[in-house]
Amino acid sequence: MLPNLAGYFGEYGGRFVPEALIPALEEIEKAYKNLKDDINFKNELSHYLKYYVGRPSPLYYAKNLSEKLGGAKIYLKREDLNHTGSHKINNTMGQALLAKRMGKTRLIAETGAGQHGVATATAAAALGLKCTVYMGATDAKRQGLNLFRMEILGAEVVTVNKGSKTLKDAANEAFRDFISSFAHAYMMIGSAIGPHPYPMMVRNFQSVIGYELKEQLQALSIPSPDYIIACVGGGSNAIGIFYPYLNSQANLIGIEAGGKGEASKLHCATLARGDRGILHGALSYLLQDENGLVEDTHSIAAGLDYPGVGPEHAYLKDSQKVTYYNVSDEEAVEAFITLSRHEGIIPALESAHALAYALKLAPSLSPEQVIVINISGRGDKDAEEVSNFIGGVEFA
Ligand SMILES: *Cc1c(COP(=O)(O)O)cnc(C)c1O
Repeated sequence: MLPNLAGYFGEYGGRFVPEALIPALEEIEKAYKNLKDDINFKNELSHYLKYYVGRPSPLYYAKNLSEKLGGAKIYLKREDLNHTGSHKINNTMGQALLAKRMGKTRLIAETGAGQHGVATATAAAALGLKCTVYMGATDAKRQGLNLFRMEILGAEVVTVNKGSKTLKDAANEAFRDFISSFAHAYMMIGSAIGPHPYPMMVRNFQSVIGYELKEQLQALSIPSPDYIIACVGGGSNAIGIFYPYLNSQANLIGIEAGGKGEASKLHCATLARGDRGILHGALSYLLQDENGLVEDTHSIAAGLDYPGVGPEHAYLKDSQKVTYYNVSDEEAVEAFITLSRHEGIIPALESAHALAYALKLAPSLSPEQVIVINISGRGDKDAEEVSNFIGGVEFA
């Protein structure tokens, strides 16, 4: 079972952090190990996932889309229907319950576009914990609505005016806070990234998606899907749905953000174009220049706009258990409109990347074949972005 005891997936992962942070990570690792199979903890988490998050999320047969494309049957795993509108709450509820069991009274998080900050502030409010969210000043300006949401939920939002004033700088400040306060505080990481044990914990909390899918397909007498497709930012929704299928017949496909094209440098196709490097406490693939400096990235989907990727995906790429492709901004926007028009479901722009690949793949398959797409979130948040991109929607 991966990771190994030191937190490595093959050669990737580990714990590349300042010495002062090691005791905090060891405490979390130990608490998680003790609690993860504890029946009371599992029951409490199941309770919140069912009655608060709204799980199980439906598996929906996209009949209109399948018929239009004339190939494989397309099923959508509806993480967009979760409370707060994406898969992120599966992880923040799990980690917040862990923090509470550890006796911590405050959650610390870093956020880029604000989605993870909102999911953390939500879990904190539900469990009666304090919450501090660090957000770069540039992001805070771009994502004012999410900042306001976090404040409504009772979180303290600290805007960071250092460096590029984005996620990287917010993460540094969040870790600085955590190093000096971990006796009473817990650091919440929002994707399958960061130092051990985070990639493992986040994967396990998100794997509820894949385990539910297995049951739902069994109920439909579908032994295994032919393809499972998910978008990859840090990689948590993807590893969550892939995990129970890693040694199955299913073809697992991760879709990164191709932005304005791989050659343009305006993308975040970390696995396609990156190479080995350390970011946020773990060794993985990384978009970096020849001097090892982290490169600027671009995606129309804020949740995919990240120069790194979780270490387990680096391992899965090298071992060829998962295949990774990328999809451009333009293709993602087309898919966003297509799903909205044909199924009445507005997907998150992140999820629209996975969908765009499926739209290309489905016509080449037969009607007996099954594609499952992880719809990681809902797209209401992206309406303005899409409208700007296409210069207003034409209502034909
Ligand atoms: C944050 C986010 C993502 C990307 O994060 P992963 O950890 O790669 O899953 C994808 N979809 C939505 C809707 C998000 O909010």
